[in-house]
Formats: sequence, C-alpha cells, structure tokens
Amino acid sequence: MDTNQNSSNSDIFSGIEKLGFNINTSSLYEEKSDQTKDETKAKNEEVDEASLLYDKEQKCPACESYFKVRSVKTNAPRLVSRDSDFFIHYSNINPYFYDVYICPNCGYASLKRDFEKLRQHQIEKIKSDITPKWKKKYYGITYDVDVAIERYKLALLNYFVIESKDSSKAMSCLKLAWMYRLKNDQQNESLFLSQALEGFNRAFFSEDFPIYGMDRYTVMYLIGELYKRTGDFDNAMKWFSKVLTTPSVSERLKDLTRDQKDYINEIEASQAKASSADTDDITANTEKENTDTKKRGFFSSLFKK
Ligand SMILES: [Zn+2]
Repeated sequence: MDTNQNSSNSDIFSGIEKLGFNINTSSLYEEKSDQTKDETKAKNEEVDEASLLYDKEQKCPACESYFKVRSVKTNAPRLVSRDSDFFIHYSNINPYFYDVYICPNCGYASLKRDFEKLRQHQIEKIKSDITPKWKKKYYGITYDVDVAIERYKLALLNYFVIESKDSSKAMSCLKLAWMYRLKNDQQNESLFLSQALEGFNRAFFSEDFPIYGMDRYTVMYLIGELYKRTGDFDNAMKWFSKVLTTPSVSERLKDLTRDQKDYINEIEASQAKASSADTDDITANTEKENTDTKKRGFFSSLFKK
C-alpha cells in the first residue's frame, strides 16, 4: 500500500504500466533538475539491490506446493560491523530481511534454516490453525525492515502455534529485536530482547547443542549479554563469570565476555557517582517495573504452556 502511495507522489504515470506504458517522471513541465537526477539515482540503487537477489524454487513441507522465495545471492552482503549480541550490520543488502520463508499457499512460515524441519503433528496444526485464516500477501521485489518485521512475526506465530522448540521462538524474537534496533525503536527492541532471553534461558537447560550454530558457551555468553542489554546486570555478571571460569572456552569468546563485564563495571561506577540525585531515580524505577509487568502479561503465553 505504502509503496503505491509513495510512487504515485513522485511518478505521475504510475499505475498504467499494465497498459503498456512505463514512463517515470515526477514532473510534466520542469526541465530536468538535480532532484530528478537524485531520484533516478535512487531508482538505480533499488535496481542494484534487486540484482543481488534471485528467486529460489522451494517446496512447502506442510502443503507440498511449490513456490518461489526471494533469496540473497552468496557473497552479496558486505559485513560492516558486529554488535555484542551477534547482530551483524551489512551494507549493499540486508540478508536478515530475507531470512523468513513463507508458503503463499498455506501460510506456513519459519526461519530459512528451519523450514524443512516439520513433524507430522506440526503439519496437522498448520492445516487446522494457520491455513484457514491465512490471507496471502505479495511483498514486492525487495524487502525493507517493516516487511522483515511482519515476516519474522508470522514465523514466530507459526512456531508458537505448532509448538516449536523454545530456541526457535527465542531466535525469532532476537531477530525481531535486531530489526527494531535498525528502526531505533528501543521499546520494541527491549521487549523482544527480553522474550529472546526467556527462550534461550529455557533452551539452555532443555535442548541439545548446538543451538542455531551456537555451542553451549556461546549460548551462555548470549544469555549474559541479553541480561546486560535488558538491564539485569547481576544476572549478566553471573553468566559472564560462568563463561570466564570454563577452561575449554575459546580466548575469542572470553575476550568478548571481558569487554561486556568492563562495560557493566563502567556503567555501575557512573551510576554510583550519580546516586546522590535520589528522588527522580525512585520514580524512574517504579515506572520501569510497571512496564515490565505489562510486557510480561502481553507475552506470558509465548513460552509457558
Ligand atoms: Zn504450504
């Protein structure tokens, strides 16, 4: 919808392509200005992004129909940086946007690496609880962060309905948190980080490793990191200490863990300095507790059955 509206603002002739006319202009009268050049440049960049994608034929394990998934070409994304909770920033194209597969026929959706792992009772659940409600949607040639959020949420809904492992729900929540980080939406980022934390915490004690390619120690670190990012420094320190006192952990992971401990120590030192300004702090803490209770209520059924 939005895409149509946007293009109609800048493109007088949009909508008549199906009649055979494909003319792109934002103005009937002006001479070609710098602005027009910029728009042409923007369109070319869009074309470039599309050229980094291809359609992959995929069979749906739930309804057995074939469909095409937008897939990122190998080596197309360029790694820019890595956050301490393993989120990777890319240039060129963002592979996270294309990480969810959705069957347009039956509504089954999951993270790419889980798509073919369906059990018979889960297929029955999709047929009874997902497909009858499913309305298929076309997401365009290239996806953006809002499309990605919608697709991750549909995957999360599927995992929830078919009673997938806690780690699957946790990983979807972590990726949703990352998408909200891209939007600078801290409230939703923190909501999904705490859901990811709960899921990984459960998975740590009940599932086999590796979990999404992470060994036991990496998940230990991640749990500490999620506690850190959601403001529970005591628990973060406990998990970080477990990583540091385990002999078989790689030096690379230990270094990363020490960096996060240092970060917490710095924050706590600066908080201790500021603690003389008292009354405002009490109000802020009460507000935080209220929000936490609300979040818990909203999501309480995601992991607890
Ligand atoms: Zn299907």
